[in-house]
Amino acid sequence: MRFLDTAGCSVPSDRVVRAMTDHLRHEQEVGGYAAAPDLTPARAALLALVGHGPPADAPGVAFLESGTAAMGALLGGWRLPAGSVVGVTRGEYASTLMLLRHLARARGWRLAEIPVDGHARLDLDGLGAMLGRLDLVVLSHIASHRGVVQPVAEVGRLCRAAGVPCVLDVCQSLGHVPVGDAGATAYVGTSRKWLGGPRGVGFLIMPGPADAEMQAAVPALGGYTWPPDDDAGSRRAALLSADPVPLAGAARYETSETAVAARAGFQVAVLDHLRLGPEAVHARLAGLGAMARNILDGAGGWRAGEPPDEPSALVTLLPPPDTPDPEAAVEEARARAAEASLRIASVPVARAPADLATPVLRVSPPLGATEDDLRALARVLAARSHAVR
Ligand SMILES: *Cc1c(COP(=O)(O)O)cnc(C)c1O
Repeated sequence: MRFLDTAGCSVPSDRVVRAMTDHLRHEQEVGGYAAAPDLTPARAALLALVGHGPPADAPGVAFLESGTAAMGALLGGWRLPAGSVVGVTRGEYASTLMLLRHLARARGWRLAEIPVDGHARLDLDGLGAMLGRLDLVVLSHIASHRGVVQPVAEVGRLCRAAGVPCVLDVCQSLGHVPVGDAGATAYVGTSRKWLGGPRGVGFLIMPGPADAEMQAAVPALGGYTWPPDDDAGSRRAALLSADPVPLAGAARYETSETAVAARAGFQVAVLDHLRLGPEAVHARLAGLGAMARNILDGAGGWRAGEPPDEPSALVTLLPPPDTPDPEAAVEEARARAAEASLRIASVPVARAPADLATPVLRVSPPLGATEDDLRALARVLAARSHAVR
C-alpha cells in the first residue's frame, strides 16, 4: 500500500513503533508508574516548533488523547462571560464549530463569522474591522477539507495588537508548514497527522506565562489541587465549600491516566521531526503538494481545490462539474485508489458544511511519496471517467 493520507493518519516510522513497544516492555518489567517517561523533551520541542522557549513557571504543553479533546478542554474551561463574541470562519473544523455552538448556547456567547475569500482564506481587512467586537478568535491554520494555508502571522499580529486572545488549531499544520511566527495564545494539535506520531495523542501548547492570559480558563476535568490549608477542621469544610485550585498553565489540562506508550512514541516522532529539520520538511512537502496538483488537476475531470502553488501538501480534488452523484463519485474514486494500493481519503460535506459544496477527495502525501505514486493515482482517476463515458 502507498499511503497518501497524511492529513487523516500517517504511518509511524519504525523508530516510533519501537519506542512504543519498548515502553510497553519496560512497563512489564518495572510497573506502569515506575516506567512513566519524562516528556520534557517533547514539550520543549513542541514549544520550539511554535517559536517559543519553555515558560519559566509552567510546563507550557499538555498532552491529551486527541486534538478534539485538547480543544474541548481549552474552550470548555474558558471563562468568557455571557455576551462574549467568538470569531470563526465558515471553514472551521466541524467538531470545533459544534463545540462552540454548544458552549455559546450554554454560556450566552455569540459566534461571529470572520469573512473569507473564494478559497476560504481569511480576509485580514475583514478581521481587522471586527476585532474590536471580538473576545476570542479560533482558527484552523489549515483545514481538514482544504489545503489553503491561513495567514496566521498576520492574524496573530492583529489579535495581539487588539488584545484579543487567539486559539490556533495546528492539527493540519504542525510538521507540515511553518507555524513559528503566529504568536497565538494557545495551539491545539494532534500526533498522528503531519508529525508522524501514533494515534491517541493530542496536545495543547500554551507558551505564555502561567496564569496570565489563561488565568480564567479552568478545565472541566483534569489538573487541580486543594487550596493550601494546614488545619484539618477547615480542610474538611473546604471539601464541600472551597474551590479546588487549577494547576499552573497548561498542566491543568493534561490527562494523567492514558496509553502512555503512545506519548512515548509521539515524543520520538517530534524529536525526529526537529532533527530532520522542519524547514527542509516544509519545503519538501510544499514541493509534493505542487507536484500533486500539477499531476492530478484535470485527471478524469477532477479539479484541484487550491491554487496550484499553495505551499501545502494537503491537496483536495473536486468531482467533475457534471457529476450526477458527487458523493458516490468520491467514494468510488477512493475505493478504486485503494484497489490500486493507493490510500487516499474522501471528505464528506459534514466536515465543513458551511464551506464545502460537494464532498471532495483528499490526497496528502507524506515525505517519502514519489512522483510515481501520484502518476498512478492520476491513472486511476482518468480510468474512472472513461468508464463513465
Ligand atoms: C484532525 C483535525 C482535528 C482533530 O484532531 P483529532 O486528533 O482527530 O481529534 C482538528 N482540527 C483539524 C483541522 C483537523 O484536521
